[in-house]
Amino acid sequence: HGDIVKVPILGNESIILGFHLISFIAADLVQNVKASTYVVITDSNIASLHLSPVVSAMKAAMETQGSTSRIMSRVIKPGELSKSRVTKAALEDWLLSEVCTRDTCLIALGGGVIGDLVGFVAATFMRGIPFVQVPTTLLAMVDSSIGGKTAIDTPHGKNLIGAFWQPKRIYMNLSFLSSLPKREFVNGMAEVIKTACIWSLNDFIKLEEGVEKIQDAVLKGVEDNVTGSTVETRTEGQCLLLDVIVSSARVKAHVVTVDERETGLRGLLNYGHSIGHAIEAILAPEVLHGECVAIGMIQEAELSYSLGHLGSASIERISRCLSSYGLPISLEDERLLCRSNGKPCPVNNLMDNMRIDKKNSGSTKKIVLLSAIGKTLEQKASAVNDEAIEAVLKA
Ligand code: ADP
Ligand code: ZN
Repeated sequence: HGDIVKVPILGNESIILGFHLISFIAADLVQNVKASTYVVITDSNIASLHLSPVVSAMKAAMETQGSTSRIMSRVIKPGELSKSRVTKAALEDWLLSEVCTRDTCLIALGGGVIGDLVGFVAATFMRGIPFVQVPTTLLAMVDSSIGGKTAIDTPHGKNLIGAFWQPKRIYMNLSFLSSLPKREFVNGMAEVIKTACIWSLNDFIKLEEGVEKIQDAVLKGVEDNVTGSTVETRTEGQCLLLDVIVSSARVKAHVVTVDERETGLRGLLNYGHSIGHAIEAILAPEVLHGECVAIGMIQEAELSYSLGHLGSASIERISRCLSSYGLPISLEDERLLCRSNGKPCPVNNLMDNMRIDKKNSGSTKKIVLLSAIGKTLEQKASAVNDEAIEAVLKA
């Protein structure tokens, strides 16, 4: 496979990106991530679209390489509710009933829900077994599959029980994106734009200028899955899509490599998330993570402006870029109000929600402040007083 891109993380070139990667993934796993049993875990939406080609490719690779390993698969219900103790226990009991031992490799085929859940099962099964991420959503590619954060939710909140457990490989097969609903693609673009905002003006300009080509590459990508996209036949849009996903993944991988346990630099990835999560706690599941983060990015940029660190033209530019991909930029956005059924987000509720942020130190809130597009005020989130935050939320 001549046209794959490899990105290093924590000293290994374990992030692999490209189009039409299924046979490559299978061959690489059988050869380099040896296991007596491979278990593909996915949700029912993804299973109906992509599971059987993955399982067939694994069987073919084992046959070619003379491997006698087992390949099994398990399908769970789609949706955040599956990131639960109950689903985790059911998966574990099934693995035990199938006599899976330490030399089992789990393959998380899916979005963030599958990746977080399967990663956490891998982290604790027999005190830890290998797993690989095969993200199928844009959000999972650029964000949740990288960095080794695994978790399930509890009634007290999201991602409260989990572990740091690094996948052996992260395979980003961009061809999977062609079946993704447009809204889910746009959801992932919020994180791509976020990363450019904290790290690279150059990447931000590519995103500003590439809106149509990037969208076309995903939405019109279906025929290309049949005819195949190689380096020679790849459209300009597909090149650009690969380019922006690689850039985003590279930044995340670098930040994780420098600060795996999030004591400083990794915290920059939370730009837009302090306020975004507070909104999400009220509006989820009707409003998606990236949609809340997009609004959070604007409000946190306004916070930076109000503290004298960021120019108003930068806020304008970020707003224009987010909306050009179809993301909301304020709580008054028409589509947002339609999705949330007009549910209000009172300032005091938002402030309360921000109090329980894992990132705060004591009662002081920590928020990532931009000093320009592509630059942050500090190499970590900054301490901000409540009055300044309240003023922005009220505006
Ligand atoms: P995320 O990655 O955004 O955190 P999920 O794991 O909840 O979220 O996935 C979002 C939704 O998209 C789920 O309903 C899932 O089944 C569906 N999905 C994931 N990947 C694909 C794909 N490649 N094609 C179509 N639907 C997909
Ligand atoms: Zn996020």
